[in-house]
Amino acid sequence: KHVAELIAAGEVVERPASVIKELTENTIDAGATAVTVEIKHGGITFMRVTDNGCGIAREDVPLAFLRHATSKVSSQEDLSHIGTLGFRGEALASIAAVAHVELLTRTEGELAGTRYLISGGEEEACEDAGCAQGTTFVMRDLFYNTPARMKFLKKDVTEGNASAAVVDHAALSHPEVAFRFLRDGKETLHTPGDGKLKNSVFAVFGREFTQGLIPVKYELNGVKVWGYISKPVASRPNRSMQNFFLNGRYVKSKTAMVAMEEAFKGSLMVGRFPACVLHLQVDFSAVDVNVHPSKIEIRFMNEKPIFEAVYHGVKTALQQEDA
Ligand code: ADP
Ligand code: MG
Repeated sequence: KHVAELIAAGEVVERPASVIKELTENTIDAGATAVTVEIKHGGITFMRVTDNGCGIAREDVPLAFLRHATSKVSSQEDLSHIGTLGFRGEALASIAAVAHVELLTRTEGELAGTRYLISGGEEEACEDAGCAQGTTFVMRDLFYNTPARMKFLKKDVTEGNASAAVVDHAALSHPEVAFRFLRDGKETLHTPGDGKLKNSVFAVFGREFTQGLIPVKYELNGVKVWGYISKPVASRPNRSMQNFFLNGRYVKSKTAMVAMEEAFKGSLMVGRFPACVLHLQVDFSAVDVNVHPSKIEIRFMNEKPIFEAVYHGVKTALQQEDA
């Protein structure tokens, strides 16, 4: 049972950034308006995620770390299939299986908060604690008990960059939440949380992107497109500043990327790329989407409406800019 637990955890928790992604999503689900993410040594030795959301009631704390019972987890072969089906309700259980976890939390109605310790899936403490309403998760020594997984980790800076990207994407999908990111004690991101996407874009990308920011707002065939684009500049030699969000989630979509670049045709130059933060809102009844919550790469059953909405949305924005 213990080995199966570790294997399952490995499927969900690949690297520090996967932990940050799950915990950050939980803060949004909890209705937080301010979220602070801290990492040390690329997140491998230390991660802390603090939110001012609804908190977890004392009696629910141990339950939050329980893996949903599944009949599918009977062999390692099966696990690879489950990987494509997702792990709803399994994030905390998985994280707690492969790290030392400390949780501090309090709901609005509780006088005392809860401090809960769990390591390698074993509860170590559950006691009263004075704390503000909301939740703090501290993770120490990720993969301390799975050395094989530990070996696959890249350099601290690479792992740290992956977590930074996760927080950037969260900040860009939720401008109404103030996000802070601290790396080895240094604050590298602070969004205002005032609901204005532009201010999140400024905070995340700074001047490099925001030189000549062009707003996009468009709708075609049940696909809404909005956000910002920026023309190619010499200082942007790759596509790392192209960000697409589908119904509020960061995604990679080849179709959206090609559509956006096609619309720039004429202003494109070799070795220079446009940047974008584009949100797509898709009416699921109008466009059949084959997308799973745990997957970043997405394909649409019918790519055409996505292509056309992005293409014409960007084209229209560029024409208005030039007019
Ligand atoms: P899921 O998010 O799919 O429900 P998780 O394992 O990520 O599963 O979390 C388990 C449960 O723990 C959540 O359903 C929620 O009730 C609670 N929880 C986790 N993080 C937070 C948080 N930051 N604030 C409030 N509740 C939380
Ligand atoms: Mg979750």
